[in-house]
Amino acid sequence: MSQSPVIAFIGAGNMARAIIGGLLENGFAAADLWASEPDTERLQDLAERGLNVTSDNRAAVAAADIVVLAVKPQVMKAVVTDLASAVQSRQPLMVSIAAGISLDALDRWLGGEIALVRCMPNTPSLVQTGASGLFANSRVSAEQRQQATTVLEAVGIALWVQSEAELDAVTAISGSGPAYYFLMMEAMTAAGVKLGLSEETARGLTLQTALGAARMASNSEVNPTELRRRVTSPNGTTERAIKTFQAEGFDALVENALTACRDRSVELA
Ligand code: NAD
Repeated sequence: MSQSPVIAFIGAGNMARAIIGGLLENGFAAADLWASEPDTERLQDLAERGLNVTSDNRAAVAAADIVVLAVKPQVMKAVVTDLASAVQSRQPLMVSIAAGISLDALDRWLGGEIALVRCMPNTPSLVQTGASGLFANSRVSAEQRQQATTVLEAVGIALWVQSEAELDAVTAISGSGPAYYFLMMEAMTAAGVKLGLSEETARGLTLQTALGAARMASNSEVNPTELRRRVTSPNGTTERAIKTFQAEGFDALVENALTACRDRSVELA
């Protein structure tokens, strides 16, 4: 295969467009990218950027080394079943970013024996700060794993897990995780208002603090426990807050919430 694989996106919605934007920024040639989508208005700007666009999913697959399935889960079966013969004759790497659709189901709908990667991305991918968990079936080669990594790294980080079941844990951490941080932001803003700040000031300080803490933790050599220790002086203000969180069972609360999320992900699969 050439250095630059041809990548076809089936569905050119929010997620596909975010990945396409990232790939173009990372130096992928638009001529090596395809987007297939029934809503032709969504294809216009992609065509203007030099992508190959079509409303014929099979034509996109026929040109591709990698096919990214970026349609909603509820239409996946119909879309994939329709692609089975094109996929069987071309044998591209298939990468699904749809929540809750198993590799086994995808393989069956495609007629079997297909190289498949299942990926759980998250919403911050839309601002190129995503976190994706990936799992491949046994037909995926080392080179194809690397290619799937490159595709998902266009919108953030991509980490491989050891079993498909681990994707339910990925859902509990990064898939649903942005909402946990939003919840924390809501609670901190509301508490700031109760403590006498204006809503605007409380929100501004909360959001910038979240960004600053995330940036410090991401850039640091040391782990968050050590970072927390460093900003918590004995008998100081931060210690009083942290002790209150801990006395109220913060760690157990987080574990319970993530376990509930994981269990719901298993139920929905
Ligand atoms: P979206 O609705 O923005 O995009 C889906 C696109 O598929 C639409 O443009 C739609 O017109 C197109 N489509 C519909 N039927 C089609 C067909 N038959 N052939 C080709 N295209 C067709 O959805 P999205 O947010 O981009 O999500 C895409 C996938 O990514 C979903 O499966 C979702 O579970 C997954 N995902 C999204 C996010 C996120 O943050 N948006 C996070 C994790 C996973």
